[in-house]
Amino acid sequence: MRQQVDITQTGGVEYNTKIIVIIVVFLILILPAPISMDTTEFRKRGKEMVDYIADYFEQLDKRQVYPDVEPGYLRPLIPDSAPQDPESFEDVLKDVERIIMPGITHWHSPYFFAYFPTASSFPALLADILSGGIGCVGFSWAASPACTELETVMLDWLGKMINLPEEFLAGKDSEGGGVIQGSASEATLVMLLAARTKTIRRIQSENPELTEAHIMSKLVAYASDQAHSSVEKAGLIGGVKIKNIASDDKFSVRGSALKKVLHEDRAAGLIPFFFCATLGTTPCCSFDRLLELGPICNKENIWMHVDAAYAGSAFICPEFRHLLNGVEFADSFNFNPHKWLLVNFDCSAMWVKKRLDLTNAFKLDPLYLQHSHQESGLVTDYRHWQIPLGRRFRSLKMWFVFRMYGVKGLQEYVRKHVNLSHEFENLVLQDKRFEICAEVTLGLVCFRLKGSNELNEALLKSINDARKIHLVPCHLREKFVLRFAICSRTVDSVHIQFAWKHISKLTTELLKAQDKQQP
Ligand code: PLP
Repeated sequence: MRQQVDITQTGGVEYNTKIIVIIVVFLILILPAPISMDTTEFRKRGKEMVDYIADYFEQLDKRQVYPDVEPGYLRPLIPDSAPQDPESFEDVLKDVERIIMPGITHWHSPYFFAYFPTASSFPALLADILSGGIGCVGFSWAASPACTELETVMLDWLGKMINLPEEFLAGKDSEGGGVIQGSASEATLVMLLAARTKTIRRIQSENPELTEAHIMSKLVAYASDQAHSSVEKAGLIGGVKIKNIASDDKFSVRGSALKKVLHEDRAAGLIPFFFCATLGTTPCCSFDRLLELGPICNKENIWMHVDAAYAGSAFICPEFRHLLNGVEFADSFNFNPHKWLLVNFDCSAMWVKKRLDLTNAFKLDPLYLQHSHQESGLVTDYRHWQIPLGRRFRSLKMWFVFRMYGVKGLQEYVRKHVNLSHEFENLVLQDKRFEICAEVTLGLVCFRLKGSNELNEALLKSINDARKIHLVPCHLREKFVLRFAICSRTVDSVHIQFAWKHISKLTTELLKAQDKQQP
């Protein structure tokens, strides 16, 4: 029989309690905190995170749009290496305010007018949470059928929204189709590589004696002198020459300019194979003349890719759709819903007329990626359409945004931005000290003080040093120009008026200071 010990009778109550307390304290000290968040904790913290983000947006206009920090500010604020033991959510969140926020440029502040917009909306944020929750990797149809199929349908929806020619849509029996890339830069690179492979194979089939290296050395691609640097980068990565085509006085590439260079290059023995047209150039949102360029490219066997990274979103409005006329001559087209269509980064929509041109260039099929449906011809394996293998479920963001805004809501959003840019343009035009430097078509105004580049550089410096609004410059020909881009989802007339008053006041101060310096 087991002997029972009655501790109340042994007088050991105090002794035993002490031991228990010591053991508990010891356990607390030596045992690590729970390694992972469980679902109960996740529910609680998830709600707190959503509250934090909602508060962030509600208070965003009170935060300084451009940070004060100096390079290297962050390292001294955090430990040298990752913690050995888990830390609490509260501690991490506290450090977001202490360490991260001071170094954030607030892209969604209504006082942010730099670069081009980057999209943000609540439906897209919610879809991103879901995408993270599902956490699938959709490199092939079998790897997650919904991830592939929703993407194909969303690209068709979006293609229809901008009235893209049928050949670009996947539809049921088409040869074309759309895919989400991470960025416009990636889209240009992928298309340049596809065009390169197609051209090399075509030339080798006609001239089997020519080596790939020889053909590569003769290949030449083209883009506007206003094109984004990503086109030049695609040429660097693709190992081919890239030449700039001079744009006209409206910063647009004309057919005649392309023709002239093609003529010279063919005479010099080069092989033109790729032209990247831009709709909505980065410096001033100018538009290359697709209706002139397209027929030339088609006739000369040159792949025409159209980069409309920013401007593409505007084509959902019938009044801006004419800017896309001529896309019917293109082989591929790309724009970034993550710029101006309320779908958070990253979501760059790319379409190709003949998807085999693309997949033939990139198709590799190791056994571990094969699946039983791939030979049926009914499925899309997006890994053949892109550089990486892995891909996130990004089309969820499009689906949520398109459904919760509706096409009308999105059109309204684009129109509001365009109206605001014209409001700013009019303010500039009323001030004789300034000039508008390029036609304002969408949400970008390029302007400058009438005077030297140094004067304009000084003005931009004083604007950004004051940190009340944020702008970036560009060069148009030799002129240093200030770019005022309508960016935030919440920007309104009141912010435009504020920005202009602020710029005007800084200008007056700058000119006064200059006057004083003059002998
Ligand atoms: N093309 C144009 C016309 C752009 O304006 C930009 C960026 O602003 C890009 C390409 C690069 O975009 P991404 O960051 O998606 O590569």
